[in-house]
Amino acid sequence: MGRFRLETPLAIEIGAVVALFVAALGTLWLTSAAVVGREQRRAMANTRLKSCNDRLETQGQGALAAVRQFPDYMSPEDWSTLDQRLSEEAARVRERDPSIELGYYVPSRHDRPFMPSLPMVHDRGSTSVASTGPGHDLYDYVDTQVDAAFRKGNELSVVEDVPPYTIAIRAAPVRVDGRVVAATWAMTRLVDPIFQDQSALGYRIFAGLALAGIALSLVLTARMTRTVRRQASERERLRVELRRSERLAALGKLLAGVAHEVRNPLAGIRGITQLLVRGVDLGEEGFGHLIDEVDRLEGIVSRLLQFSRADAQDLAPGDLSAVVAEAAKLAQDRARELGVRVELDLADQLPLVDMAPPALVQVFRNLTTNALHVMSSGGVLKLSTRLDPAAGGVTASVADQGPGLSPDVLAHLFEPFFTTKPEGTGLGLAIAREIALAHRGDLTAGNRPEGGAVFTLTIPTTGPRKPS
Ligand code: ADP
Repeated sequence: MGRFRLETPLAIEIGAVVALFVAALGTLWLTSAAVVGREQRRAMANTRLKSCNDRLETQGQGALAAVRQFPDYMSPEDWSTLDQRLSEEAARVRERDPSIELGYYVPSRHDRPFMPSLPMVHDRGSTSVASTGPGHDLYDYVDTQVDAAFRKGNELSVVEDVPPYTIAIRAAPVRVDGRVVAATWAMTRLVDPIFQDQSALGYRIFAGLALAGIALSLVLTARMTRTVRRQASERERLRVELRRSERLAALGKLLAGVAHEVRNPLAGIRGITQLLVRGVDLGEEGFGHLIDEVDRLEGIVSRLLQFSRADAQDLAPGDLSAVVAEAAKLAQDRARELGVRVELDLADQLPLVDMAPPALVQVFRNLTTNALHVMSSGGVLKLSTRLDPAAGGVTASVADQGPGLSPDVLAHLFEPFFTTKPEGTGLGLAIAREIALAHRGDLTAGNRPEGGAVFTLTIPTTGPRKPS
């Protein structure tokens, strides 16, 4: 048997593994860097925001405490005092840390729960405090947080994604005489859009690498599939070759058998001829023996011709039922002589199978001849066909009502020259089996439960075409 080499496209395999590995590592690194960085920034921002907010809160508290009729009425002067003190404090905070934004809320006396957040710093660029523009969502979010701090009377510290930013915000209630009267807030942006763009680019690169790895794996799979297919056809070729050499070996065995079989009648002929040469008068019986021996030789030779023809025919799609019907017709005369009824049970519309009809007719002739031989006292000879998915093809059976097959006979049935008949050649079943094999099928024998032997020919419905 040949050994198969799996042709691994090593470069593709390594490329795919490296790409997937790098992509996985890169994604992991980016994600963990983002998480760790975010946590670090959050902790730092929290400390910074707390001190800023505390300072603003103290200022607010002082200014509000100075308002005489608070919270029922705040005069324009009160407002401007408050605004001024907080603005000054905010400016000081911003001087030290320009990335921080601050503001405060005071509940109005009328319809709205809060005054809009005051623009404590004026350099927010396009993101004004007004309720329109790109910063709208951001300050809306600030409003919600400050509202919550005011209502609950608790300090709040939150980190949140408010696209395109990630922000940290700290909000604290301002108390006068134990009563929450306002709230201050301080906010900083933890991740600005540039950083986000960069990490998006990183993710895109690694996703690209992962896709490249997957594409390479697909290429690899396709090539492996092709290799496996090539190996399968190579295996089929070797299998056919093996069968050919097995059959050559069988032929060698057959020839040895032929030599042995031919020697007996030849020895007989030689003996009789020598007696004739010596002038011995053998009478009619002697010549009869001579003719018998020649007939025997003739029988062996014509059977051998069948053997050599078994494989040499072209196969074409055909109907097995039609072949069996034909064989039944050929057996009819002899059956009638013996008082045997030939019964047909043929399946309609069997799938066509590749066959050489004359060779198959020969198979059934051999089988029916054997069957009729053991049914000299009459009975029913049944020929049937059917589709047998379990056997992978169509089958045809010849079932007789003879004595059946003993274990000894079963063991040697298909061997060339195995015969139990004095006048037999022992080639009929060997040839039939050979023909079945030439059809990529098989011929099997067994005993029927109700008595008698049954021979079954199977021909596959699918399978590789006959190798040229
Ligand atoms: P031959 O008919 O020349 O003996 P075969 O190869 O056809 O050669 O058969 C081999 C042997 O198988 C026969 O001699 C017989 O003993 C046995 N055999 C074949 N068919 C049957 C059958 N239907 N019933 C019983 N025995 C059988």
